[in-house]
Amino acid sequence: MPSGTLSILEPATEAVLEEVSRADAGDVDAAVARAKAAYPAWRALAPGRRAELLHRLANRLEEAHEELAVLEARNAGKPISDARGEMGMVVATFRYYAGAPERLLGDTIPVEGGQAFTVREPLGVVGLIVPWNFPLTIAAWKLGPALAAGNTVVLKPAELTPLTALRFAELALEAGLPEGVVNVVVGPGSTCGARLVEHPDVAKIAFTGSTEVGRSIAAGAAASIKRVTLELGGKSPNIVFADADLEAAASAAPGAVFGNAGQDCCARSRILVQRHAVDRFMEALEEVVEAMRVGDPLDAATQMGPLISAGHRADVSSFLDDDAPVAVRGSAPDGPGYWFAPTVLCPVDPGTRAAREEIFGPIACVIPFDDEADAVRLANDTIYGLSGSVWTRDGAKALRTARAIETGVVSINSNTSVRVSTPFGGFKQSGFGRELGMHALDGYTEVKNVYYSTEG
Ligand code: NAD
Repeated sequence: MPSGTLSILEPATEAVLEEVSRADAGDVDAAVARAKAAYPAWRALAPGRRAELLHRLANRLEEAHEELAVLEARNAGKPISDARGEMGMVVATFRYYAGAPERLLGDTIPVEGGQAFTVREPLGVVGLIVPWNFPLTIAAWKLGPALAAGNTVVLKPAELTPLTALRFAELALEAGLPEGVVNVVVGPGSTCGARLVEHPDVAKIAFTGSTEVGRSIAAGAAASIKRVTLELGGKSPNIVFADADLEAAASAAPGAVFGNAGQDCCARSRILVQRHAVDRFMEALEEVVEAMRVGDPLDAATQMGPLISAGHRADVSSFLDDDAPVAVRGSAPDGPGYWFAPTVLCPVDPGTRAAREEIFGPIACVIPFDDEADAVRLANDTIYGLSGSVWTRDGAKALRTARAIETGVVSINSNTSVRVSTPFGGFKQSGFGRELGMHALDGYTEVKNVYYSTEG
């Protein structure tokens, strides 16, 4: 591999998919300079015109939907059916935020001697740093509100999965976004990401990734009081009470932890099941896990693909030591590709490493609990607080438990976490700030108060 290039691998085959040039800190500086130069005109654009350009971008993304889905499926190793859904969400995200430039409303505030009102100002150049698990989707959650609010951006995709971000930059130009409004730099986090964090002309970093890197970004941003939003790791609880529809809870549970091969910050990887229902629950769950189709991401019937890399597979495997209580093991292909069979551990002691750390792979822990108070205590016994589920037919108990769980999103009798129009983000060490919905715009604007004296 020539220096200055990155070989982008296909996780299902281990073959090189593409060579791309590797950016360094100087390339980041150049991208920030382009974004800074483009900012005044982008910010000054009439809101309706910015909305129109975002609609055009959504149209262009929709036309490229299948191309982007195949690229994402191959580069990230995710099932094509998932990739198609994700690209649908990317389009919907831009359509949603195309409505935002004309809806950035302020307040009028009664004060003495004049009139006070608030306006929402863009921040300037925003650095977007994203992970490899949902490459373009997570980028879109940041790009949509950032651009709608009048910011220009420098996007740094994960170095393992840059291909859809690079294609996105081309599509943005084709849609008519001015040069310099969207910039993409592909390079390592330790150089390119770190340079964005320290760059004096970057007003804010919107980061999604591990809690460990999030900590270093928060520390780096402190030097210049840079704005930061952080979407970090998770160890989300899926609480199943004995009075739930156990069939429904058990058949949904594998998808909620083995989706995207478990490489999902919202993975419900701690399945808390009321003790006297564990046997019935496991019986139903086993059937679903054993029937899971793990294989070629480009096969429409595939439900789970490989892990992202050899290194990550080694990390995930480290959770399956000799003492691991393996209760169910699905299947996975042999041969090239970073395959790992979906695995359920039961019963898991809540103090063990598998129950406490984010595995970010297809290993689920089933942890028995006694009663409602015990379920809530176990659910909250973690540094994380991203998402969670509650399964029960008792509505009052469902609402009490949903309120008691320390997570940013909770679903009742469902495992969904993310919708374009609703806020998403974490409590505790899962981060701060909210993406999606109108809440996301708070993270890409400053509130300015203007006072106009009416005294003669
Ligand atoms: P990661 O933290 O290793 O990397 C994320 C991004 O940060 C990459 O682009 C990387 O190049 C960059 N980076 C690395 N070191 C950096 C540094 N020192 N300075 C600046 N940037 C740096 O995470 P990952 O392995 O790509 O993704 C997996 C993690 O992401 C998991 O912990 C997962 O839970 C988390 N995640 C969270 C959400 C969420 O919304 N909360 C969503 C998806 C993934």
